[in-house]
Amino acid sequence: MRILIAEDDEVLRDGLCRSMRQSGYAVDCAGNGKEAVQVLLDELHDLVILDLGLPKLDGMNVLKQLRLHNKQVPVIILTARDGVEDRVKGLDLGADDYLTKPFSLPELEARVRALLRRGQCGASPVLTYGALVFDSVGRRVEINGDLVELSPRELGVMEILLTKVGKVVSKDHLLEHLYSQDEEASSNAIEVYVHRLRKKIEAAGVTIRTIRGLGYLLDKS
Ligand code: CA
Repeated sequence: MRILIAEDDEVLRDGLCRSMRQSGYAVDCAGNGKEAVQVLLDELHDLVILDLGLPKLDGMNVLKQLRLHNKQVPVIILTARDGVEDRVKGLDLGADDYLTKPFSLPELEARVRALLRRGQCGASPVLTYGALVFDSVGRRVEINGDLVELSPRELGVMEILLTKVGKVVSKDHLLEHLYSQDEEASSNAIEVYVHRLRKKIEAAGVTIRTIRGLGYLLDKS
């Protein structure tokens, strides 16, 4: 899952980026509103964390631009403690949630997970397929109660496939949602992750089928 963080406070932005990356998300950062709009229109994101007080173009206008371009990506706005009017305006402009500064990181992460789940059917924090159990809160995969050792990137591939059961997921989709702008992405790497995953999830009676020219499909083996 890929997130954009638009925040001009460097310390806060770097801290947020670091902790979101540690949680296994691909993260892009923008320090002003214009940059945020540019990145959002150029790339595909699963969620945006948007500070309202941004230089060059404020958060409200970033939100307006997004919705104007029909970008349906979920948005969490960050506002000042006394910004009731801002929160109302933000929600009316199409923000999905808000947090007032200062906020706690665990709360922000919980809201991020909740919003990401909303886009999936069932909206459960636990995804299952065959004997495979993916806990999106603990970021872990189990087969019959046994923990499966996965790298963050393998976990990312697994999560995307599990949210798209019954659908073919293209390599481009995986690349877009697994890597941020400043990371080197290659389709060879995706093939390696899929190859490793297949072995690791074999015991669950689940496999990842290659659909020639189209992508990958999670299937019962
Ligand atoms: Ca700010």
